[in-house]
Amino acid sequence: MSKYIFVTGGVVSSVGKGIAAASIGKILKSRSISVTVQKLDPYLNVDPGTMSPYQHGEVFVTKDGAETDLDLGHYERFIGVELTQASNVTSGQVYSAVIAQERRGDFLGGTIQVVPHVTNEIKRRIREVAEISGAELVIVEVGGTVGDIEGQPFLEAIRQMRKDEGRDNVLYIHVTFLPYIAATNELKTKPTQHSVNELRRMGIQPDVILCRSDKEVSPGIKDKISLFCDVDREAVIPLVTSETIYEVPLLLEDAGLGELIVSRLGLKAERNELSEWRNLVAKLKTPKEMVTIGLVGKYVGLQDAYYSVREALCHAALAHDCEVKIEWLDSENLETGDDGVLKRVQGIIVPGGFGYRGIEGMVAAAKFAREKKIPYLGLCLGMQVMVIEFARQVFHSQDVNSTEFDAKTAYPVITLLPEQREVRQMGGTMRLGTYPCHLVPGTKTAKAYGSEVVYERHRHRFEFNNIFRRTLKEAGLIPSGLLLDGDLVEIMELEDHPWMIACQFHPEFKSRPDSPHPLFQHFIGAAKKTMVEGAQMKLSTVK
Ligand code: GLN
Repeated sequence: MSKYIFVTGGVVSSVGKGIAAASIGKILKSRSISVTVQKLDPYLNVDPGTMSPYQHGEVFVTKDGAETDLDLGHYERFIGVELTQASNVTSGQVYSAVIAQERRGDFLGGTIQVVPHVTNEIKRRIREVAEISGAELVIVEVGGTVGDIEGQPFLEAIRQMRKDEGRDNVLYIHVTFLPYIAATNELKTKPTQHSVNELRRMGIQPDVILCRSDKEVSPGIKDKISLFCDVDREAVIPLVTSETIYEVPLLLEDAGLGELIVSRLGLKAERNELSEWRNLVAKLKTPKEMVTIGLVGKYVGLQDAYYSVREALCHAALAHDCEVKIEWLDSENLETGDDGVLKRVQGIIVPGGFGYRGIEGMVAAAKFAREKKIPYLGLCLGMQVMVIEFARQVFHSQDVNSTEFDAKTAYPVITLLPEQREVRQMGGTMRLGTYPCHLVPGTKTAKAYGSEVVYERHRHRFEFNNIFRRTLKEAGLIPSGLLLDGDLVEIMELEDHPWMIACQFHPEFKSRPDSPHPLFQHFIGAAKKTMVEGAQMKLSTVK
């Protein structure tokens, strides 16, 4: 039987509740406890797949093709697990399921209510993730903050879980924020007290309070929170802003959270083993050589939109004993023809995206990379852009495009497969999830991976158009990875270039701090060799 930890948030959002949940998973897994994680998102969308990156940040794709919250990325990277659709539940999914049952007549004439029907469906999904994974411990993070209207059914469901599963099998952890008032030079606990009161109003008394703060938390502040919130003193755990997110598990471990959870839940645990992680964090915090990478996208104002890409670059740089400095380049600014900013970078990355806005700037970046022989890594849209750019010079025409951007283009080098042409509904209908990819022997791509077949995660509607395969190959754009039956081009690389490789999938989702993705690792390796005036030999501390 699984035990459960429920992580709620108070005061404000964006204080790192997801990273806290992932870190809790890490310190328990380090004691050989099997762990899985689930995120409950109170919004009414069925999944974030159709949401704008400005609203939601990155959409993280699981191996089974679920489009999920970016917190699942933290869970996978910290804990080293691979999650599934069952790990992200939204109000939209819960209500759709309950209403479908009602339409089928499953409730035999009953009145359908939030309690018990909606809450039962939420609890069923929490238990389902426990069953599917067989994990000893399930960490469930409730999105949003306590007091949100949409979040109430979730809080009611997790309240009931303590009664259903037994007191000793459920633990509530509340993550709050202690604001710092400069005028009086102090941290304030009042918002935490209010937030805990709000949680109690829902019938939940937290067992542990994690206090996020930008300043040291004094023993006096801990005492105060312990007294007013009725939480043991050792269960008030400060979580002071750290240099790198990967340090958070160590801060929690050193504050005694691991031992506390094990004893409160009566878990069978081994001695914790975090020494490799400690080395990794120490390495991250050591100043080192810098590699400057230009990330050319259209959501660069909001870096959460490229969360996994940023992390994958950081992991890859670490493997080369260097630090990555990302220049966030708005692709629309490159459309004016001014490529000055690109001259300062040692490598160019064009990540995923949708819609025509900003595309021509990405094409300009791919052209710059090709002509100036700057290492280039294209991710999904980044591969489509690389193909468009290359084909424009092969066909001596600007009328080369993806049919996503120009349905009537003379050279539709990127287009929809017949099955995608039938699609009428936007949500959940792209090519999603893991597909096998056969690497072409002798290519740089095959060398980077060092294997014959790889499994990578997709999220796109459009594909390389095979009509142009032969011509482009003869001109030097080599298909270096193919779907196992060879029908679809999954990776392309450029001949006569130090390193220009792009893939139709999203390798960033599989990178981990302790096992960087081969394409990112080799891209950084190539970028390191690019000499750019003033960019190398700079030392700095890592963020
Ligand atoms: N818009 C492109 C497509 O749908 C690329 C998608 C992406 O980059 N994830 O195929």
